[in-house]
Amino acid sequence: MLTERLKNTIKDYPDFPKKDILFKDISPILSDPELFSNLIDKIASYSFFNETDAIVAIDARGFIFGSAIAKTIKKPLILARKKNKLPGLVIEKSYGLEYGNDKLCIQESAISPYQKFVIVDDLLATGGTANCIIEMLKMKRKEILALSVIIELTFLGGSEKLDIPVFSEIQYS
Ligand code: AMP
Repeated sequence: MLTERLKNTIKDYPDFPKKDILFKDISPILSDPELFSNLIDKIASYSFFNETDAIVAIDARGFIFGSAIAKTIKKPLILARKKNKLPGLVIEKSYGLEYGNDKLCIQESAISPYQKFVIVDDLLATGGTANCIIEMLKMKRKEILALSVIIELTFLGGSEKLDIPVFSEIQYS
């Protein structure tokens, strides 16, 4: 079963990148082409991907899953990048992480042709990162259909803080 295989493959690193954080490393999924492919096919089959105009993938591990999904469903991929990485006119917003603070940016020209978006990332922890993207898109009066992540740390209550549907492949409580 896919869930079991994912749980057995994702590796835990205690106290990384700082004390008391149990880091969930998705890299071993990428080293298993069959598992990676089955995972992407499962996620790409969700009906909200039929409805969406585009995917917004979050820097950096969200890019891996977002680009594979975008290729599968043949829809545009938009990169939400950390500060000072994107040229041109950008929308930017600061956010708090489970382990720090940062800023995310999206190119205005990348989102302006589209109305409906699905956000993709590797992991949902506190929800601060996803909420940053949600707020940026809402500021531009865009519609967000769902957040799709591989891993959800349910004990941090991230999905309850977001006012969009959250789809996670595996949950840790
Ligand atoms: P948050 O904003 O708290 O929901 O954090 C989500 C973002 O931080 C995602 O982009 C993850 O890649 C990263 N992240 C947060 N906590 C962890 C964790 N325990 N293991 C791996 N990545 C994490």
